[in-house]
Amino acid sequence: MNRRAREYVEKNPRLKGVVALYRGVFSVQRKLSQRIPDRLPHIEGAQISYRLEEGRLLLEAREMEVDLALLREIMEEVAAVLRRKGEDPVEGMEDFLRGVEDVELRGLVESFLENDEERISAIMAGKALEPPLLYLLLHVSLAPFYWKAAKSLARRADLDQVAKGRCPVCGDLPIMGFLRSEDGLRVLECSRCGTRWGFPRMMCPFCMTTEQEKLSYIYAEEDPGHRVYLCDRCGKYIKVTVSFPGKEEELVIPLEDLATAHLDLAAEEKGYRRGCRTVFA
Ligand SMILES: [Zn+2]
Ligand SMILES: [Zn+2]
Repeated sequence: MNRRAREYVEKNPRLKGVVALYRGVFSVQRKLSQRIPDRLPHIEGAQISYRLEEGRLLLEAREMEVDLALLREIMEEVAAVLRRKGEDPVEGMEDFLRGVEDVELRGLVESFLENDEERISAIMAGKALEPPLLYLLLHVSLAPFYWKAAKSLARRADLDQVAKGRCPVCGDLPIMGFLRSEDGLRVLECSRCGTRWGFPRMMCPFCMTTEQEKLSYIYAEEDPGHRVYLCDRCGKYIKVTVSFPGKEEELVIPLEDLATAHLDLAAEEKGYRRGCRTVFA
């Protein structure tokens, strides 16, 4: 991870700030994730394949376990990293954390897991924290809980051919993808829990179209190792790493995402929108 991060910055010194921020947040996540107890997966063998066939998530919102005290600790450390390493001052985050009561925090976690924007706004009424900052804080602080729960499930499931544009484990959108070197399979990575699943190359993960005349890709001449797959049906795009040094287990997709911001610009200039929201925008 550290070696990779250095390579990105060597190639593109302008990434220094955002990569340092990502590394800071990641080290908080990793350190505190070690204190989340391992738990046995709540479903096993046949139930896993049955759920996948039914199109149900392997990890439904009500099956997530979040230790509130530990979550608070992660949030405080993340806020401290953002204050130290962020290029823009982070307003209101620490005040918010000091003032938020446990019952409100529990409500925020539940509504975040269920994508209940209305309930989030109701809880946040009167609190001075910008919605994108709250999203960032919840997203990165809940990630370690997701990693822990998703890892054991993904290991037991066959996720090579899942024609779903949302994560089969937690239901969130893919942040980016890569082409698997052994067989060229397009693998997407979940922006929330990090699960990787195989998805057809000639299908849009956001509207699921397979109309070939609507699908295309572009790349930058100086960077043939990355592509942007565009969809003319829904107007969205996803970035994909097509060649990389080393093993794909070592591929840090959130760093790939940060390092390919030039491709977001190129796609947006052509009028396409990103399919999955950015956390470190
Ligand atoms: Zn997921
Ligand atoms: Zn589409």
